[in-house]
Amino acid sequence: MKWIHIAILYTAAVLIFGCLMFSINKAKNTPVEKALKKLLTSALISVAAYATAMVVNEPLISEYAYGLYHIFLDGVVMAMVSFVRRYTGIQPKLKKEGHILGVLVTIDTFFLLLNPIVHLVFRVAPVDDGFGKGFYSIVSREPLYNYHFVLLAFLILLALFRLGRKTASTPKIYKFKYAIISIMLCVAFVSHLVYLNCNFKFDYSLFLYGVIAIAIYYFSLAYIPQGLMERLMYFTISSLKDGVICMDVDGNIAYSNKMAREYFSDEMEDNSKLLTFINLWFGENPDAAERDIVWESPRRIGGKKRYYKNSYTRIIDENQKYIGCFFIMHDCTTEYNRIEEEQYRATHDELTGLYNMYYFCERASEMINDNPETDYMIVCTDVKSFKVINDIFGIETGDELLKALAASIAKIATNNCIYGRITGDRFALCIRKEDFSEELLIAKAEELSNFFDKEVFKMHVHFGVYEVRDRSMKVSVMCDRANIAIRTIKDSYETVIAYYDSQMREKFISKQKIISEFENALDTGRFHPFIQPQFSADWKTKGGEALVRWILPDGGMVRPDQFISVFEETGLIGRLDTYMWERACMQLDKWHKEGHDELYLSVNISPKDFCLMDVYEVITALVKKYDLNPKNLHLEITETAIIENLKTNLPLINRLRDAGFQVEMDDFGNGQSSLNSLMNIDVDVLKVDMGFLRKTENVDRSMTILRKVIELARSLDLKLIIEGVETQEQVDFLIKNGCDVFQGFHFARPMKISDFEDKYLSVQA
Ligand code: C2E
Ligand code: CA
Ligand code: CA
Repeated sequence: MKWIHIAILYTAAVLIFGCLMFSINKAKNTPVEKALKKLLTSALISVAAYATAMVVNEPLISEYAYGLYHIFLDGVVMAMVSFVRRYTGIQPKLKKEGHILGVLVTIDTFFLLLNPIVHLVFRVAPVDDGFGKGFYSIVSREPLYNYHFVLLAFLILLALFRLGRKTASTPKIYKFKYAIISIMLCVAFVSHLVYLNCNFKFDYSLFLYGVIAIAIYYFSLAYIPQGLMERLMYFTISSLKDGVICMDVDGNIAYSNKMAREYFSDEMEDNSKLLTFINLWFGENPDAAERDIVWESPRRIGGKKRYYKNSYTRIIDENQKYIGCFFIMHDCTTEYNRIEEEQYRATHDELTGLYNMYYFCERASEMINDNPETDYMIVCTDVKSFKVINDIFGIETGDELLKALAASIAKIATNNCIYGRITGDRFALCIRKEDFSEELLIAKAEELSNFFDKEVFKMHVHFGVYEVRDRSMKVSVMCDRANIAIRTIKDSYETVIAYYDSQMREKFISKQKIISEFENALDTGRFHPFIQPQFSADWKTKGGEALVRWILPDGGMVRPDQFISVFEETGLIGRLDTYMWERACMQLDKWHKEGHDELYLSVNISPKDFCLMDVYEVITALVKKYDLNPKNLHLEITETAIIENLKTNLPLINRLRDAGFQVEMDDFGNGQSSLNSLMNIDVDVLKVDMGFLRKTENVDRSMTILRKVIELARSLDLKLIIEGVETQEQVDFLIKNGCDVFQGFHFARPMKISDFEDKYLSVQA
């Protein structure tokens, strides 16, 4: 009997050892597995210790072995509590529970270790197994055995309590594995109690503890409840956001989830609609037997448009046999809408909702190339002084204006028309030539001009038109050409539409060339003052007008009328004029040092200079720098320059005159209201250009006008200089009428300074 017992115990030990080894190899060392390993190790040692106690016939060793058995039984139960805590996830209310239990177990261990000496827990004595075999068994339990037992019982009850709670709260499918461990633990505990009360020689409960260790190992690591996979799969698929339909090999619907039924607006649990669809689908896709298929389809569900990505997949088993198929309907409406929105943003202008530049060009190019028989026009718009509007009225008003402009463009557009916003205030339209209407554009420009209160600001919109001839040209280049046309009228308040022609482009390019070369020309001294002398009636040189010439590196000469207006447009004129004024001052300084004190030079002041700088400051500073008498520097200002900004320019002219400069009104007669302006403007000299007389056919009439102008000048006490004098008859006439200063080709053309000096100064000196 003894040996049977021992054999069973060792068998249990080997089994537990096997489980332990297995769990060491397989486990991933989760907290549950760690607790499980402790449980198995304790069970192994306690079973082995008990067996050893029975094997040896030596009281002291038996006592130690029984002690070890009791210590590791504590270990088994402690490991069980920790395992249950981790396995069930039920955390102890008392935070320090682990520590307290540890202390209680340590006390028990301490007394069990001392037991062979002090015998406070139990005593052993030789007993007979009933078959003549003797061994040492626990025969009497001392007071501290109760402590050991109560501790053990408490730990078991604690584990049982938690297992019970978990069993009650867990889903049905998992109940079994908690319940079975609970039941086994109960049985072991009860048999333990029985063993204690009946004074058996053998402790049967020990087997049960061993079995529990193995069972726990099995249920926690190896056991998967029956049907769990199916149930989990079922719930996974039914809660998917995608629609799923599974079909068996005979073409029957084996399963369909709620989303799939929704896809067919079939809320009922009946598969008829689904089946109809699937049969239809198979009819349309005869190759479905051979391959998987993916397709997209929009559907209207609950009144809303939704987008689906669908797939059909065949299920092939491990023997390569077809066993069914499944459909997945993935609702990608959000994704689809996001992509659509992104596409919209990439192709449309945010403010006006029109096509953006990139998309306009793409679509217009498509239209032009797809209709080779149709003639097209590209129309671009530009708001005059849009930047100023933004600055004065604010960006929000600017935006409103752009929206109004966009609305007008949309109205101009016919059905077969592409339009968009190119940049800022520039819109473009690609319209069929037959639909193009100049009247409509003018009407729209007129309508838009009332955007602001007319008293406050009259808005001007210009249109540039390019007729598409070369269809291979990029639409962006066509727009550039329409914009070149706009540039030719951008200062005009009357003209609304300009049509592009090839000359415009050449002009535009040469203009750009002039602008780009300015900086270098100024730095390398390519601008030269030429002097056109002014004479008295007796052919004496009194001084001259400094006129700029641009001398190219190859010796070629560019005349001012080719670049002055360009520099005026771009604001470069300020720098050129300052340079010219300084060159004139340097020249006067040189002459005066050479003794030509009375010689003067006349310089031109562009109307734009008044906006670009403080003309008074610059000129007085120069005169000071070269220590000149201001009377030797004559200033030519055109009548329009003064009139453009009377309020600031009149006082400026007076200050210049007060400072001693001679101010001359240039090109008198070319302006719009010459005589009127004379009433208001105080200048020293009227410079009358014979050119305005050349324009008229009626010589007598022009002579009369000239005579009147001369009379007027005299009555206002103004000196006169007549320029553009080309003939001796003109001179005779002018002398007869009392003029005494002349400038013109008849006397001399503008010339280099050195020529002027050679020709006139050496004689006079
Ligand atoms: P402007 O101030 O009226 O200068 C007189 C222009 O008439 C000069 O042309 C001169 O060469 C030309 N001229 C002189 N006598 C006769 C003549 O008998 N018959 C004809 N048909 N023309 C004559 P230019 O030098 O080509 O200058 C043209 C314009 O360019 C000037 O007209 C002036 O407005 C502007 N300009 C010239 N130099 C400068 C400058 O340094 N600064 C500024 N702001 N403008 C300048
Ligand atoms: Ca002049
Ligand atoms: Ca002039």
